[in-house]
Amino acid sequence: MSSPSTSASPEPVAPAHASIKRAAYREPGPLVIEIENVTKLYKMGEEIVHALLGVSIKVHRNEYLAVMGPSGSGKSTLMNMLGCLDTPTSGKYHFTGKDVSDMSDDELADIRNREIGFVFQTFNLLPRSSSLQNVELPLVYAGYSPAHRREKAMQTLRDVGLGERMGHKPNELSGGQRQRVAIARALVNNPSIILADEPTGNLDSKTGEEIMQLLEVLYEQGNTIIVVTHEEDIARHARRIVRLRDGLIESDVKQH
Ligand code: ADP
Ligand code: MG
Repeated sequence: MSSPSTSASPEPVAPAHASIKRAAYREPGPLVIEIENVTKLYKMGEEIVHALLGVSIKVHRNEYLAVMGPSGSGKSTLMNMLGCLDTPTSGKYHFTGKDVSDMSDDELADIRNREIGFVFQTFNLLPRSSSLQNVELPLVYAGYSPAHRREKAMQTLRDVGLGERMGHKPNELSGGQRQRVAIARALVNNPSIILADEPTGNLDSKTGEEIMQLLEVLYEQGNTIIVVTHEEDIARHARRIVRLRDGLIESDVKQH
């Protein structure tokens, strides 16, 4: 990861793809996610869209998984499901051993806040809030004291190389820096799992590589990562690739 610059100078040049440091393979830990024969139908007036047609998948701690597939194949639908942002039409979902369909709205909100870190293609930062305020937000919901929040958010921003950008608002940051703020926000609660839906989709390829280098470091530190991408270059960073097509898993392959 690049070190933070101390002035308003341009960002350090991101490493080329070939120079990205690949972390050593880690043996997966206990089961985190288990979905079984999950379907998702959307009703659009008269029409029914079958976004997922029966998907089963198990993800263990310390896995680094890429979800690939053409546009419309169900990648985002699957991620929203895994992240408890949406519920399956049918099928089972166990998160850390608990049946998600048995959970109340409060329990689901709690899981989303504490156990899952989201990173989106469009960053989804609060535009009028500083980096620090954006990263503190999940801790507000989690009920930490203001001093503890600040300390944790600052440390997480330093971890992603933004120690010098704490007071900047999103429009005062580059795309890569914005995505790093979003990653810090995803990480600040020490979630069980990081879900990233096309995190490099709005970035140029060099900046995208910088974000992938950061994910590589997070993997090395023992995080569990699921990243959606349609770029083979990006997917090559993962240790396992799941390919979706028309709402079904086409292949699920480990690569060390
Ligand atoms: P991907 O992320 O792989 O591009 P999505 O999961 O977004 O695919 O979409 C899968 C299918 O479900 C597509 O045909 C899409 O049009 C449809 N879809 C996704 N979200 C909705 C929604 N909220 N309402 C209706 N149809 C949807
Ligand atoms: Mg999508």
